Amino acid sequence: MLVLVLNSGSSSIKYQVREVPLPGADDHHEAILTEGIVERIGEGEVEDHTAALEQINSELTAALGDRQIDAVGHRVVHGGERFGEPVLITNEITRAIERLNPLAPLHNPPNVLGIRAIADKWPNLPQVAVFDTAFHRTLPERAWRYAIPDDFYRKYGIRRYGFHGTSCEYVTQQAAELLGCPLGEFNAVVAHLGNGASATAIQGGISVDTSMGFTPIEGLVMGTRSGDLDPSILLFLEREGFSADELDEMLNKKSGLKALFGQNDMRSIVEAVDDDERARLALEISSYRLAKYIGGYHVAVGGARAIVFTAGIGENSPQFRQAVVERLAPLGVKLDDGANLGPADGARIISTGNSAIQVLVVPTDEERAIAEATAAVVASRPIPSR
Ligand code: AMP
Repeated sequence: MLVLVLNSGSSSIKYQVREVPLPGADDHHEAILTEGIVERIGEGEVEDHTAALEQINSELTAALGDRQIDAVGHRVVHGGERFGEPVLITNEITRAIERLNPLAPLHNPPNVLGIRAIADKWPNLPQVAVFDTAFHRTLPERAWRYAIPDDFYRKYGIRRYGFHGTSCEYVTQQAAELLGCPLGEFNAVVAHLGNGASATAIQGGISVDTSMGFTPIEGLVMGTRSGDLDPSILLFLEREGFSADELDEMLNKKSGLKALFGQNDMRSIVEAVDDDERARLALEISSYRLAKYIGGYHVAVGGARAIVFTAGIGENSPQFRQAVVERLAPLGVKLDDGANLGPADGARIISTGNSAIQVLVVPTDEERAIAEATAAVVASRPIPSR
């Protein structure tokens, strides 16, 4: 089945066409046929999301020739409390996603625009929404509830939702498979460390706690986001005259590694670490914060069997992994330096044979996960009655 995977942002749409086997098929052929990005939507050349999809359509025609797309899978950031699984999109589902816009004002509106633009152009093409929050729908209340008055939850939906769920679920399955552990018995901590970063506690293969919260700001130090901080800081700054938009910009765009070092790229930090005090401190603060979460989640899952590193930093930065794992020595975790520094070639174990918890690097592939989920939903949909 050919699935077009779309990741629609406010000013860009990333796309990838994947060939995925139908669920249960003998043929496991899997491939990326083409991919690309349309940027600067709304800034002149590309008027809106409909125009961007026209452009993608002509790029697809050039790349695929006569082959037709069978379905579209959308990465949708926020599924709220309703969506715990990928769903086939109908008008009602689109409206439900739209109602979640206030919870993800930067992300859900462009997702809805993308869905509507496809529905207008190809009304018969099945579309599936795959939610970044869905994998965390299994969080127990002790993990999702904030200790604030209940009204704020009931009226405004204020609770922990968690993000990076699609990546986390995929990486969890891959890690369990690599270790030959049945998914239902797999306890682990997954560290998705890209420009956005989160840690997730996996118990019996499902998410039981995660560091991102009501929004993606909570938790770890990220590229440009602060992660955890005392909420009173914002009240203090508001009284000092900062507006909500200014604080939003500060927390989302100007904080994290960028604030600590001046750049949000872990590569430059690692390169500068020996002769730049700010780089050293940025590495120390970010790795320390993650180590604290891993220690906490080891307890949360009743003893983790594995610590899994994934995404840009997790997959590519042996220095960052080392800085984190060194702090886990009290838990008996031991890194195999050769394996940690070795070539990045797929899912692998980078701890020593006698490490109390195994340390893994598992490359994530959100597009593949979305394409496979889309194929599964489309294959199982009821045939419409006439
Ligand atoms: P992602 O959001 O998963 O694409 O990850 C992006 C981040 O990965 C970048 O901001 C970099 O900080 C980081 N990254 C990518 N390659 C490397 C590398 N070789 N060493 C350190 N960090 C890297």
